Amino acid sequence: MPIAKVRVDVAVDREFDYRIPPELEGSVRLGSRVAVPFGPNMREGFVVGFVESSSFARIRDIASILDSKPILDDRLIALAKWMADYYCAGTDKAINTVLPSPVRRKGVKHKERFLVSLTPAGVSALADDGVKKTPRQRAMMERLAKDGPVFAADLSAESGMSPAVLGGLIKRGLVQRALGADRRDPQSGRKILPTLPLQLMPEQAEALKEIVAAMDGAESGRRGVVLLQGVTGSGKTEVYLQAIDAVLARGKGAIVLVPEISLTPQTIERFRGRFGEQTALLHSRLSEGERHDEWHRLQEGKARIAVGARSAVFAPVHPLGLIVVDEEHEPSYKQDESPRYNARDVAVMRGAMESCAVVLGSATPSLESLHNARRGRYRIAHLPRRADNRKMPSVRVVDMRIEKGPTGKTTVFSRPLLDAMAGRLERAEQVMLFLNRRGYATSLVCPACGHVAVCPDCSVSMTYHRDEELLRCHLCGGAHAPPRACPACSDPAFRMSGIGTQRVEAVAQKCFPHARVGRLDTDAARRKRSCEDILDAFRAGEIDILVGTQMIAKGLHFPRVTLVGIVCADMGLHMPDFRAGERSFQLMAQVAGRAGRGEALGEVIIQTFTPFHVAVQAARRLDFDGFAEQELEFRKELGYPPYRRIVCVGFRGVSEEVVSFACGSFARALRPLMPEGTVLSDPCPAPLAKIKRQTRYQLIIRCRSVRDTVGAIRKTLAAVKMPKGVSCLVDVDALNLM
Ligand code: ADP
Ligand code: ZN
Repeated sequence: MPIAKVRVDVAVDREFDYRIPPELEGSVRLGSRVAVPFGPNMREGFVVGFVESSSFARIRDIASILDSKPILDDRLIALAKWMADYYCAGTDKAINTVLPSPVRRKGVKHKERFLVSLTPAGVSALADDGVKKTPRQRAMMERLAKDGPVFAADLSAESGMSPAVLGGLIKRGLVQRALGADRRDPQSGRKILPTLPLQLMPEQAEALKEIVAAMDGAESGRRGVVLLQGVTGSGKTEVYLQAIDAVLARGKGAIVLVPEISLTPQTIERFRGRFGEQTALLHSRLSEGERHDEWHRLQEGKARIAVGARSAVFAPVHPLGLIVVDEEHEPSYKQDESPRYNARDVAVMRGAMESCAVVLGSATPSLESLHNARRGRYRIAHLPRRADNRKMPSVRVVDMRIEKGPTGKTTVFSRPLLDAMAGRLERAEQVMLFLNRRGYATSLVCPACGHVAVCPDCSVSMTYHRDEELLRCHLCGGAHAPPRACPACSDPAFRMSGIGTQRVEAVAQKCFPHARVGRLDTDAARRKRSCEDILDAFRAGEIDILVGTQMIAKGLHFPRVTLVGIVCADMGLHMPDFRAGERSFQLMAQVAGRAGRGEALGEVIIQTFTPFHVAVQAARRLDFDGFAEQELEFRKELGYPPYRRIVCVGFRGVSEEVVSFACGSFARALRPLMPEGTVLSDPCPAPLAKIKRQTRYQLIIRCRSVRDTVGAIRKTLAAVKMPKGVSCLVDVDALNLM
């Protein structure tokens, strides 16, 4: 009697054995959803494997199968198992990640409505003039003959197609009515104009050739990854579109991953415009019903192209010919809960498992991908110019140490930036001002004793928000009224220091009273108007100066923006994370890419207190290769990725003493198990030592092999008992060491 391993929907990370009763033999398959007895109840579960015999004496039978077709196929199950292994996570969490919740859960179902169609008798009656029909009945029958099954509600909305006419035809047996699945379309009501492939520029054609070669390679069992390094505006998206054409021509489908933040209507329209109904969307802003339906359209092969954010890497596209990861360097591809997977790396793995090509696109590739390309593991294609031969913007660095206002204090805008803004406003061109911190002032500082207002629950300074007159913590969201005097020394001259987007907005308005100034950050998007409204207004020219955080840095295309100001480049540079330079460079290059996307030449002004920083200097020349060269040398020297891998083991809990103890004893148990050549940090508090009252400690491991390290960590987890109140998390290929 065959036995199925069933992952039951309960909070235990293990599989249970169930017998397959004779009447279900042959129909229970890998990925089938089944009902099983569990304790006194019935539960839902997935079949994740089969065995010949069970080590348990008493096993029960599977009660029934819940879907006619397995909802998870063996390819996605294999991917989930790999993910659980590699990222040191539970298989159930991995399987839950692979399957979106609206599909997994019982509650969400296909929406059903009545479909009407001609019966066989109706078909012959329509052709037979001997059968009597009123003109209205004839019109309805002709409509149904032409268009096949139509939803009753849609039909009755048309003129002349009244429910009474329909009722009459049903009574005569000429028309039938049945329940049919209706689709909840996330794009319904949006008119999207179809587009045709553009004539590619020579570099684009070359890149497309590389991708097609990678597809051939992947089909014959070789690794088929292409790193597409193209400056902003170089036409990467057009290359993706034509690569997808090539995939469809081979009878296969494609997945396109885009960071959530750049999954704008503009991006979606480019894919919908080229591939229409073949495109399915998967992202978090869809309703549950829409996500359910889009997923099933892919699974049933009605749509062959999935466009979405991180989790779309698990889209049920079969057979799969291509995965595109746009902006592959984006940290948002990493999930920050278990399994802590990076969708880019999962894409490469899925590509290898399903013999499909993978394209990693970016203007500023991650050093990991660059390193892989240089070692010959990935193919590489370059798009060094903007499409249409538009020029890259000119970039200027302003040294804020010598830019002082009339009172000798540092100012928000330097003279060169003010002059450039004035010029743009005169010519009715648009300006974007970028600052990576929302709020008004970054902190309240006491000039007498140096006391800074710090969140009592987290170890960061609070940010002053002027519109609400509150100090807010950006980590926990907590808010407090600003104190009237310094809580430490009672000096009343508590002063605001540092700047946020609100302050930049206010100062810009003061400097240019006639300009229309807008702001886009999470605060603005949440309260006043939606993010899309603000962007629409900017596009329509109703805003002259747009101030924003990284929300304005990516993927947006505004031809009339000719000046981009980076108000303070230093903000990200000095974080205690070895990737701070890389992140800052990427961000500056992305923001700079917003300038000069139309006819006029763009200009970028970077204000900084550290003008000679490698990242700033490389951004000035928009020189990715130069930056990568220096940064790689430093990484090699210090044994950081991409030369070593990083695994971070984190400990969280309320009591500092207990958390520190847990971290220490874990480290002692782990150290002797570590493979040779591994560097294990001393147990220490994380740079953000406290968030929401949780004390945070961590161990940073730099190793050559993730597999060996995770093996050692698993052994340690099994051997060491976590003290009560402490949770432990494992982050493989950690991107955030804060
Ligand atoms: P990227 O994705 O690299 O930032 P886009 O694909 O957005 O670049 O291209 C920038 C602009 O150039 C778009 O308006 C696009 O329509 C246009 N473009 C791309 N390829 C071509 C081409 N071969 N001929 C003409 N225009 C092109
Ligand atoms: Zn806080």
